[in-house]
Amino acid sequence: MIYKDFQGMKLSALGFGAMRLPVIDGDDGRIDEAAALRMVDTAMQNGINYYDTAWGYHGENSELVMGKALSRYPRDSFYVATKFPGYDPSNWGKVEEIFERQLEKLGVEYFDFYLFHNVCEMNIDAYLDDEKYGIYSYLMKQKQNGRIRHLGFSCHGSMPVLQRFLDAYGKDMEFCQLQLNYLDWTFQNGKDKVALLDQQHIPVWVMEPLRGGRLAKLAPEYEAQLTALRPDEEIPAWAFRFLQSIPSVTMILSGMSNDEQLEKNLVTFAEDKKLNEAEMKVLLGIAEKMLSVGTVPCTACHYCVSHCPQELNIPDLLALYNEHVYTGGGFIAPMALSALPEEKRPQACLQCRSCEEVCPQQIKISEVLADFSAKLG
Ligand code: SF4
Ligand code: SF4
Repeated sequence: MIYKDFQGMKLSALGFGAMRLPVIDGDDGRIDEAAALRMVDTAMQNGINYYDTAWGYHGENSELVMGKALSRYPRDSFYVATKFPGYDPSNWGKVEEIFERQLEKLGVEYFDFYLFHNVCEMNIDAYLDDEKYGIYSYLMKQKQNGRIRHLGFSCHGSMPVLQRFLDAYGKDMEFCQLQLNYLDWTFQNGKDKVALLDQQHIPVWVMEPLRGGRLAKLAPEYEAQLTALRPDEEIPAWAFRFLQSIPSVTMILSGMSNDEQLEKNLVTFAEDKKLNEAEMKVLLGIAEKMLSVGTVPCTACHYCVSHCPQELNIPDLLALYNEHVYTGGGFIAPMALSALPEEKRPQACLQCRSCEEVCPQQIKISEVLADFSAKLG
């Protein structure tokens, strides 16, 4: 196992993500405890010392099962991370109640790592409204009294959201968990987000390194290109090698669902094998081709924006469209759109096409927005 230094601690570079534990009869809320405990045992025996759970994972059962699994080990032999579920507005006023319950569920007296969960367009105002909800003040108090050892945040929001959060709380944030992989390096502005965090010396924790499994298997022509470069490297390992090549990436979380995935990840993380320049170029070239299917080639030049009578933020809407189409649905686009007033959503497009006259990429913006509206229902 490779280890990374974090404030003098040795963290396993592979973290055990407890959001896709084995379940019974395909029911996400019914964790197969025996299988999950066995996986934790294998992970511990092979040097994984970081375990990431959250209030909402597996219908609120992940923390309970991880508590059972980890309580069989000395408290100083693992680091456990969980998160405040601010993605749900009904939780905003309950930080103390939830925090206390999380300690009980996990059976610990303190959390090694604690995060503001999923900072995004929908909850940034609540997270920053300390007078009303007091989330930040409460968590800072827990840090001072030792019940949180390290405080950070996870973020699915856009660059402006990340910037706002950092402007407000960046000085207190010790790490940031991002969705990062070789597709999202450009697709979700991963590269720019990492650069922004680097400026503030905040190390990166990675979630979705395989983009929900999509990078575990590629089209045959892409697999052949990669295998020609490294015949012995498995295809999923390329996603991890890509992340190992980014200096500020400290923790890579993988939500493993069975023994086989865990065993394969353990092999990958036995060695640090960064990509060289040529390999990186090929991989990012493949990512570009994968992303071009079904998405629109908006470059965010903003030429169209001043031509829109509705003053829609067209490039942002198209970026969300791309996310939604590529992911095949998912929560990110609906979540971001829910934070916009109705008159700024795709449905507000008048189909006047004046934006299309100035688009250098010749995108049929009116059609794309109509399609987006239809997809969102
Ligand atoms: S077609 Fe829609 S997006 Fe384009 S200028 Fe007209 S209202 Fe704005
Ligand atoms: S003009 Fe075209 S490429 Fe530029 S931001 Fe608008 S839609 Fe995107």
